[in-house]
Amino acid sequence: MDRKALRINPAKTCQPVGAMYAALGMHRCLPHSHGSQGCCSYHRSHLTRHFKEPVMASTSSFTEGASVFGGSANLLQAINTIFTTYAPDVIAVHTTCLSETIGDDIPTIVAKAREDGLVPEGKHVFHASTPSYAGSHVVGFASMVEAMVKTFAEPAGTKIPRSRRKDSEPQVTVVPGFVEPADMREIRRLIAIMGLRPTMLPDTSGVMDSPQTGTHDFYPGGGVTVEELRTLGRSVATLALGRWASRPAAVAAENRCQVPREILDLPIGLAATDRLVGVLRRRAHQEVPGELLDERGRLLDLMGDAAQHFHGRKVAVFGDPDHVIAMTEFLSDLSMHPTHVVTGTPGAAFEKRVTQILAERVPGARVKASADLFLLHQWLKNEPVDLIVGNTYGKYIARAEDIPFVRFGWPILDRFGHTYFPTVGYQGAIRVAEKILDALLERRDRDAPDEEFELVL
Ligand code: SF4
Repeated sequence: MDRKALRINPAKTCQPVGAMYAALGMHRCLPHSHGSQGCCSYHRSHLTRHFKEPVMASTSSFTEGASVFGGSANLLQAINTIFTTYAPDVIAVHTTCLSETIGDDIPTIVAKAREDGLVPEGKHVFHASTPSYAGSHVVGFASMVEAMVKTFAEPAGTKIPRSRRKDSEPQVTVVPGFVEPADMREIRRLIAIMGLRPTMLPDTSGVMDSPQTGTHDFYPGGGVTVEELRTLGRSVATLALGRWASRPAAVAAENRCQVPREILDLPIGLAATDRLVGVLRRRAHQEVPGELLDERGRLLDLMGDAAQHFHGRKVAVFGDPDHVIAMTEFLSDLSMHPTHVVTGTPGAAFEKRVTQILAERVPGARVKASADLFLLHQWLKNEPVDLIVGNTYGKYIARAEDIPFVRFGWPILDRFGHTYFPTVGYQGAIRVAEKILDALLERRDRDAPDEEFELVL
């Protein structure tokens, strides 16, 4: 029987973490947590542990008074202090459990801050509602990106000054999803190869993987600018990569600017990348350049060369829905068998989509949204697999059951390098396949008796 009132080791975290990460992908933006210090501290440290970078964010620092009387005074004070002391261009406010429960009216408080002259000329404050007792960090991310569109994108029909035009290549808006900075950079590269000019929101490349220069930049150079967000209405399309993290922003762009949306899976693996390239080809009205065909060919070559190692291996996959859907399809294309597939984020559409992907190749697969890692562990005890793919929290199950483990998705707290190497696109798929092969072949070497311990595999 399904547990309904209890989660044990949930496969998700709370909304503001995602909202904070999304806000970091705006240029010179300071994420602001409207709640108690502990929430902000947890969200910052969780992001820092994954990205190995300092995460700048501020808090309304609720105490007993704000909990009883509301956090309006705290937020007004915070806006004043932030602009006078830390000088961002933008403050992106997200709420927490406490401020949502109190019912603080953020738009009214921000309007008062403007009336009181606390928001300097040319600076911006906007907000996303991120109650943590619903959804997950993915939902918080999606809400913050949606708020960027609703706040800054100029409605259809707005005349854009000549100085803000860049007409040489058609512009496409890309909502990349809750992915690594390296993924965002790789998606931009793919789009540029296809002859389009991407405007990406958010864009944490250059922020959460900024180079070591010997000097500390409170606001690193990356991130989408307010000026870029204003021109979203000029895009030929909005590409939402990942239904859960990116669809709301694409819908908002369509409603506000009449820019058509394309909802795609995260381009992780062969088929999902093919679909993205197909859309870009259609939107750019150009053929796929040889450079990209070569990358695809190299991926196919690896898939063929190592097919005997992938074939029929059973896999458990868990993590965020957009990542898990894309990974499940890629594993299936590698002729592996994803037999246990879970996400902690709610959504019946997840179960439907994964079941559809596996319908022919793994018809008996167990698939569940709103699941936790305790359930996944139970499934694994009843039906062991050859590999687990998921975030760092899977290491306990992998160790307990002695199953090879590939870290993938968010968060990865106990390894390095994931922020620098993409998993999207054909090149990213090669990296993912290599990691899977390494894990499987390491196990084969470890378990091989002396007479079967081979030099060449
Ligand atoms: S679940 Fe709520 S109280 Fe806990 S850290 Fe998240 S926002 Fe704060």
